[in-house]
Amino acid sequence: MIVCKFGGTSVASAEQIQKVANIVKSNPARKIVAVSAPGKRSGDDIKVTDLLIDLANAALQNENIEEKLQTVVNRYKSIADGLQLDHTICDVITEDLRERVQGDPSNEELFIDSLKAAGEDNNAKLIAAYFNSIGMSARYVSPKEGLVVNDLPERTFALPEAYTNLAPLKDTKEIIVFPGFFGYTKAGILRTFDRGGSDITGSILAAAVEAELYENFTDVDCVFSANPKVVNDPVEIKEITYREMRELSYAGFSVFHDEALMPVYKIGVPVNIKNTNNPSAPGTRIVPSRPATGRPVTGISADSGFSTLYVSKYLMNREVGFGRKLLQILEDENISYEHTPSGLDDISVIMRSNQLTPENEARILTRVKNELQADDVQMRHGFSMIVIVGEGMRNNTGLAARAATAISKTGANIEMINQGSSEVSLVFGVLQEYENRILQALYGEFFAQVQA
Ligand code: ASP
Repeated sequence: MIVCKFGGTSVASAEQIQKVANIVKSNPARKIVAVSAPGKRSGDDIKVTDLLIDLANAALQNENIEEKLQTVVNRYKSIADGLQLDHTICDVITEDLRERVQGDPSNEELFIDSLKAAGEDNNAKLIAAYFNSIGMSARYVSPKEGLVVNDLPERTFALPEAYTNLAPLKDTKEIIVFPGFFGYTKAGILRTFDRGGSDITGSILAAAVEAELYENFTDVDCVFSANPKVVNDPVEIKEITYREMRELSYAGFSVFHDEALMPVYKIGVPVNIKNTNNPSAPGTRIVPSRPATGRPVTGISADSGFSTLYVSKYLMNREVGFGRKLLQILEDENISYEHTPSGLDDISVIMRSNQLTPENEARILTRVKNELQADDVQMRHGFSMIVIVGEGMRNNTGLAARAATAISKTGANIEMINQGSSEVSLVFGVLQEYENRILQALYGEFFAQVQA
């Protein structure tokens, strides 16, 4: 059995959904289909999910929501018209949205989640109706039927029983159309995953039914070894390990959600990233392991928006519990960190800047200074992380030297170097303004010769 997931652009219009139907029809093993909400039809379009967030916020502000609600309904109406579905489905969708808007607003996060999820939920109903209308026997299945998630306040993830609950779907005779992006707590409260989280739903389903393959359909032919918007004509990645993909998607490889790897990784279901607009292209396969290639580096990614908390204190290395107390201060502010490079008497904690506000930043600095008696404490912003990834890096000497030399030629100072213990990745912290130049320089160093 194959589980396939179709992303927002793949289900954005009637024409796209017809392509989806053809893809599903062309292989009888494609029995479970997870879908996103209608995404952008063109560059300047707005995703239905964003329209719904706007609608939810308007409802919370007690604004008149009629126009915003109608905009969402009209998106589905134009899809239904294009697919020659009668308008019963649009009535169902209108009714559903009205019910959600009238839901309990006392917890704003949950209220917004409920509206956000309407994008995928209604699209799944519509797509199931369309499949049936063209003779493909299909059934909409709600995440209520087993996709149980944890409670607030933690970030949403599937509980272990979700996999057991969803396992019987493997015996389905019909094609199952399952909405991506959300699940229900044990108490029946809807919670959405992170943005882009339909990838996670597909992965949970693939793991639950122990699929032979998880196909993730999007709008690009493959994953590239570097961002094609920055590097000219980068090498296509045919095969990549879970570990490599995880490292790359941490810093900017947004083709596949980084949280989506875990469920399939645990039981070894391979993933194939494919293009709905060009389904015969082989795409990129994400696999447990792959034969070594001549190239030590598989991909280079870069992401901006990092801040670093620098703390120094004489004899820090002798002070039992210093690191724990420092990280406790961040935990108290509900902040997660990415790296902690350290010296004898100093340590930096690197985190995503979007978790910081002027208020929590001031609290952190004061507490570190007073409670840890630090000699120097500074928060600096505007950093990028550049990540070089490759299973083959472990067996290659001189790679860090080559990378550092390539970076130095751009004039950038390396603020931090971190080599993961698995030696599959090498991370460089640099000032944001050098990001693109460094990416190009590193690509030239590790790939250009291969291409020639
Ligand atoms: N529709 C959601 C989003 O825009 C989830 C997804 O498409 O994966 O983030």
